[in-house]
Amino acid sequence: MATALTVTAAGSLSAQQTEEAAMARWVDDHRSEAVELLEQITNINSYTLNPPGVREVADVLAPEFEALGFDVRWIDGSAFDRAGHLFAERRGSGTRMLLIGHLDTVFPEADPFDSFRRVDETTVAGPGVGDMKGGLVIILQTLQALDEQGLLEDTNITVAMIGDEERTGSPSELARRDLIDAARWADVALGFEGLETANSAAIARRGGTGWTLTAKGIRGHSSRIFDDEIGFGAVFEAARILNAFREEFAGEEFLTFSPGLLLGGSEVERDPVTSSGSASGLSNVVAETVVATGDLRTISGAQGQRVIDRMTEIASDNLPGTSATLEFRGVPSGMPPKPGSERLFKMYDETSRDLGFGPIDLISPMRLGGADISTAAPHVDGALAAIGGMGSGWHSSAETADLEKIAIRTKLAASLILRLSQREWDQGR
Ligand SMILES: [Zn+2]
Repeated sequence: MATALTVTAAGSLSAQQTEEAAMARWVDDHRSEAVELLEQITNINSYTLNPPGVREVADVLAPEFEALGFDVRWIDGSAFDRAGHLFAERRGSGTRMLLIGHLDTVFPEADPFDSFRRVDETTVAGPGVGDMKGGLVIILQTLQALDEQGLLEDTNITVAMIGDEERTGSPSELARRDLIDAARWADVALGFEGLETANSAAIARRGGTGWTLTAKGIRGHSSRIFDDEIGFGAVFEAARILNAFREEFAGEEFLTFSPGLLLGGSEVERDPVTSSGSASGLSNVVAETVVATGDLRTISGAQGQRVIDRMTEIASDNLPGTSATLEFRGVPSGMPPKPGSERLFKMYDETSRDLGFGPIDLISPMRLGGADISTAAPHVDGALAAIGGMGSGWHSSAETADLEKIAIRTKLAASLILRLSQREWDQGR
């Protein structure tokens, strides 16, 4: 696909237009290298819990960044029980940019979906081709395109390739320490996770937390329910709590909250691994136990913490003869929209229009889950997410990526980074 160019009144191109056109040509001329690299790293199993594989992907990429003049370091992840992260840095002037991607995938070594395959002229399939090895290729080729034009000179860039995006290591403070440090240095963060929809990007994402509610009651004959000794039973207590959550939170902006599994009776058995269980109880016996599990999605850590505090309060105001506990899995997070991110999105949209790729749609945070850029976002002035590849069936054995879109996203990222590098970022403007 040819890149459209805006010609000035005098019929000549500005220096920036000439540079951007040259970068776009370079990307088109190096499509086969992009596919070869994507094939090579897709065929390395880099399941989050396969540290040698994650490291192997990093080892393929590290020399490429070194060749571009980056200081490259491997951050060992044994302290948080994961492979680790690959960081590449170069220091100069202009906007300080943090480019974020991840090396790991959700496919275990034993998964039969284990190799790269060409589906047709523009589509490839394989574990992680979309999420997000295609994005890693975009990051590398973006920087190579800039370098070919001498435009990496004097830029301020940190590339963070996280090794445990799909399942964060523990303790998470350690697993995300270097990413947060890099974000504190940066003015803007660019997230190269992709999307399954075309021509879009995001400046807000939601983060998810899992919760488990366990309600306990006193077993007794049903004829005695509500009396002083037996009380209300576990089922009414769980119903009270869940209904109070709904009354309190349904409709709050950016928040969703959903019970996904509920078991109740005299005896309850739940298997957290398979998300299943069984319950037994007689109709004339007051229920002793209820277990419910669900998720909670919020736009920010602050919103998440407020909801968690309130949920905990509701769960502790028990009916007579009952008690309840609530457990939360993971730290609440999210990436709320902010002015710096809106400016960044405008720049990206303008870049896309200038290059002839048309306007960029702003994706609703209600449709996006968590990503590492959410961890970085509170520490930067602007964050732009979901500017990586496109495809379909991600996290499934039908995962594909679109090669044409990889090329377009590479051209867009190269031009955006060029534009950002040629100015200082005005903090908080
Ligand atoms: Zn991902």
